[in-house]
Amino acid sequence: MAEEKSMAVLEFLGKAELLKQGAEARVYRAHFLGKPTIVKQRFPKRYRHPTLDEKLTHRRTTQEVRSILRCRKAGISTPVVYFVDYASHCIFLEEILDSSTVRDHIASTRKSDSCQQAELERLAERMGQILAKMHDEDVIHGDLTTSNMLLRRSGEQAEYNLVLIDFGLSYISALPEDKGVDLYVLEKAFLSTHPNTEEVFEKLLKSYASSSKKSLAVIKKLDEVRLRGRKRSMVG
Ligand code: AMP
Repeated sequence: MAEEKSMAVLEFLGKAELLKQGAEARVYRAHFLGKPTIVKQRFPKRYRHPTLDEKLTHRRTTQEVRSILRCRKAGISTPVVYFVDYASHCIFLEEILDSSTVRDHIASTRKSDSCQQAELERLAERMGQILAKMHDEDVIHGDLTTSNMLLRRSGEQAEYNLVLIDFGLSYISALPEDKGVDLYVLEKAFLSTHPNTEEVFEKLLKSYASSSKKSLAVIKKLDEVRLRGRKRSMVG
């Protein structure tokens, strides 16, 4: 039965549009039950022992689905999970239409002439609030970048409509250290993708600190991780 279902899924993917071939997964665009859908398929890693590989891939799929559901339950925007096939390691997700990545949005805002600093800071504040909410739910994203946040255009709405995606490396943890590292990963990615935006990122952290109930310990851990990173780069 499971095998038959997987065959049907693979046949379905054969007709879907391949959007991205990553190191761990392929991302497809398709229509599923009439709905615009993104399908993420994890594939086997040949260099890993097959049993271990199966276990790891299964765990990643489970964790991704679990984190998305946990976020959605808490009112954090993430794509709806339509269907999961654990045999072929496929997750069928709502396609977020009319969206761009935060990465592209920041890049185009910085190219425009007017109000860019104020606009970027407003976006950073929103990002800080959402990440605070996610961490208060003990969801660690594991791969926070401005490419893993989509911005949905929603007419004249004053508030940014941010959607978090790609929870493939996520897990559940209440430890301030894990949350601090999550923010550190974002800081590194943010400042290397968008050079000279230190003030914007500080706004994000300020907003995180004032929105999260447990931010004091997290920011303290972030400072420790930053210090360790600096020491390591001095030695290297
Ligand atoms: P991922 O490997 O999950 O980061 O996805 C690769 C790219 O596909 C992202 O950078 C997005 O541009 C796009 N993408 C992924 N998930 C969605 C989604 N649910 N809706 C719209 N676009 C998506």
